[in-house]
Amino acid sequence: MTETDVDVVVVGCGPVGATLGNLLGTAGMTSAIFERETDVYHLPRASHFDGEIMRVFQSVGLADAITPLTSGIDGMDFLDATGERLFGFVSPPGVGPSGWANDYMFSQPELERELRRGLDRFPTVTLHDGHEVETVTDTGDGTVVTVRDLATGTTRTVRARFVVGTDGARSITRAAIGSELDDYGFDQPWLVIDTNLLRPVDLPSVAVQYCDPNRPATFIPHGGVRRRWEIMAMPGDDLDELQSAERVAQLLSRWIDPDEVEIVRAVVYTFHALVARNWRRNRVMIAGDSAHQMPPFLGQGMCAGIRDVTNLAWKLGAVLEGAPLTLLDSYQPEREPHARRVIETAVAAGRIIQTTDPEVARARDESFRAAGGGSGPDQSFLGPLGPGLHGFGGGTPIPQVRESDTALGSGFALVTGDRSVAAVAPDDIPVVVITELESWFRERDCDLALVRPDRYVFGTARADEVDTLVGALRAHL
Ligand SMILES: Cc1cc2nc3c(=O)[nH]c(=O)nc-3n(C[C@H](O)[C@H](O)[C@H](O)COP(=O)(O)OP(=O)(O)OC[C@H]3O[C@@H](n4cnc5c(N)ncnc54)[C@H](O)[C@@H]3O)c2cc1C
Repeated sequence: MTETDVDVVVVGCGPVGATLGNLLGTAGMTSAIFERETDVYHLPRASHFDGEIMRVFQSVGLADAITPLTSGIDGMDFLDATGERLFGFVSPPGVGPSGWANDYMFSQPELERELRRGLDRFPTVTLHDGHEVETVTDTGDGTVVTVRDLATGTTRTVRARFVVGTDGARSITRAAIGSELDDYGFDQPWLVIDTNLLRPVDLPSVAVQYCDPNRPATFIPHGGVRRRWEIMAMPGDDLDELQSAERVAQLLSRWIDPDEVEIVRAVVYTFHALVARNWRRNRVMIAGDSAHQMPPFLGQGMCAGIRDVTNLAWKLGAVLEGAPLTLLDSYQPEREPHARRVIETAVAAGRIIQTTDPEVARARDESFRAAGGGSGPDQSFLGPLGPGLHGFGGGTPIPQVRESDTALGSGFALVTGDRSVAAVAPDDIPVVVITELESWFRERDCDLALVRPDRYVFGTARADEVDTLVGALRAHL
């Protein structure tokens, strides 16, 4: 191998590429991450991630560093034009099934910096910032990328076993795969205003969707002094004027005295809902915003991308250790239906919020009131994986209790709630007894769960069926 040969080239170091770098480093794979910019993207974007994402950060040893950057949130309310509550979601307090809180608020640039610091721990991972990937080629048994050093203008070639494009909405890796985008026809500009409170102000502790047909808006309490308002651009708005200091102050005055906040920045984003039709071509894959984009109403765009690379990283590791390349066939079928479910729910939430016709808004409000204020978009959008490397009752994450993932390790593991069952496990798969999960097993009428490295259950079985279950896994590997 030459100096530039690596297992994986990662194109782009946004939050998804940086998480992938940490996953690859943790698993001991060699990787080169190329990022066009020389610092993290400074404009406001994601503000929420869920407990499953903190579990991923735990798996790469960064939960302790990231937790202090986060704060909690109590839920989300949808209000009508008069401020009356139509329906809402409560964020359940305490620890959820991931072994972490259900919801975290954060600032994306701070998170990205911590993820990049995490990369420094791995001698096998190199981040080359100020480097733009110009071409990505699949050669059948490998890949070649050409990279331009933007400081010197020189171009070089890097060979890798795999390329993962986490290069965002305008992905050149997606173009190299030759993938078209499926468009849900949701394209709406919104003004995003990030502020810091200069003194204590009485504002909600939940996110609020103002379903006001005159000017739909969203409020997000980011934690600490940070507060965000997202304000929909109405037909006829001049988008440049909408971002001007006077107009921003005027729009904010609906909720606060603009002198009570420092405006960090105010930027217009056009929200989209798009899914790439093809996420992989042989040894080249895409993940994150290059594979799908969604409006931010559920705070799940980045989360979906981090789920992609968590699904992919262990499969790349297994193929590098000798598993057939066909193991990667399961990547898109498992992840795409999951991502689409979230996108479709975010679009549904967006259509509720974005209604500008007063008659339609009135009918909407009446139907929510008639439903008792309870029937918003379906909240079960984070359901199981699509069909793939699981079955036998698998496809969802195994719950974590008391940091039980530490005992699971980084490979496959058998989990049981009953100590007496542990003896049936084969010698080469660690078995972990989590007595708190006894009722989880009882509900599923099984004794054991075979858990993948990404903490998703491959399958469940009774004690006398464990050989069949493990045999089914070995057939894939
Ligand atoms: C207003 C707003 C609010 C949001 N809120 C949330 C939220 O609360 N929760 C949530 O989960 N998500 C949210 N999102 C979505 C989230 O910000 C994105 O999904 C996330 O940033 C995507 O990460 P990524 O790493 O896939 O892509 P990006 O963050 O776009 O990163 C791609 C990187 O690739 C680099 N790159 C591109 N091309 C090349 C190339 N050829 N060579 C080298 N480098 C390249 C780019 O410079 C960039 O750094 C929000 C988005 C917006 C706009």
